[in-house]
Amino acid sequence: MNPLWFLTAIVPIGFSLRWTWWLSDSNGLPVLVYHKIGNPPKGSKLKDLWVSPENFDKQIKWLKRNGYRTLFFSELADMHKKGLPLNGNEVLITFDDGYENNYTYAWPILAENSSKGNIFVVYNTIGKTNVWHNPETEPWINMADEKMLKEMLESGFIEYGSHTMNHPKLEKIPYEDAVWEIRESKKQLESLFGREMCAFAYPYGIGAYNEKIRKAVLDAGYILDFSFKQGKTNWPWEREKHTIDRLFIKGNEGLWDLKLHIKKGKARFF
Ligand SMILES: [Zn+2]
Repeated sequence: MNPLWFLTAIVPIGFSLRWTWWLSDSNGLPVLVYHKIGNPPKGSKLKDLWVSPENFDKQIKWLKRNGYRTLFFSELADMHKKGLPLNGNEVLITFDDGYENNYTYAWPILAENSSKGNIFVVYNTIGKTNVWHNPETEPWINMADEKMLKEMLESGFIEYGSHTMNHPKLEKIPYEDAVWEIRESKKQLESLFGREMCAFAYPYGIGAYNEKIRKAVLDAGYILDFSFKQGKTNWPWEREKHTIDRLFIKGNEGLWDLKLHIKKGKARFF
């Protein structure tokens, strides 16, 4: 094959298909979802869930440099209640599960950059480990303990939402148990933090499109509920109709991907 032909034709076509720079910009609120900030330990087969502190720092600085305003759950819930519009520069930074590395790495980076983050906590694993993972594919690591969670909350850079009591697949357990996971976690977290828990994230995104389970979430009093589906949600948001989509920031993604996620609603075409 003529190498010049390859460079001029195949490479740009492949590049175009892989990334979404050619899509038109999409409206809606970008909600970033992270899990673990750090380098994957030996044995981790779910490396997408790990973003290095260096990359996280670059991403937060990029957001700041480009005029994005980070929001808390409580601020977004308030805007929803009052029917206030977004300016178009808002972004919500969320973390699922509540790992100790959120305290060790993410929180100091957010604070240094005067940026706000929101963590979905699994109540029964506070100060324990991520026991819902199969340790053969994802090693068990420490979750943040009560002291760390309270210190972050008091700093004014972190807020919390519920990610259930035990991180179950809500559609795979008896309905009454799912309702208990949804309601009890709200009650326990509110008593722990002395704040209203207005946000909920479905573990694995399961239940976000199940009418009965979603109704249980809304009936429990959560204002905002977040799926794991890739995309942005238009604002004003019609709470009764659907959950809020998110943008999963993967471990191997750079600033180019972050920019595409935020502008286009997804970074890669496949
Ligand atoms: Zn989770």
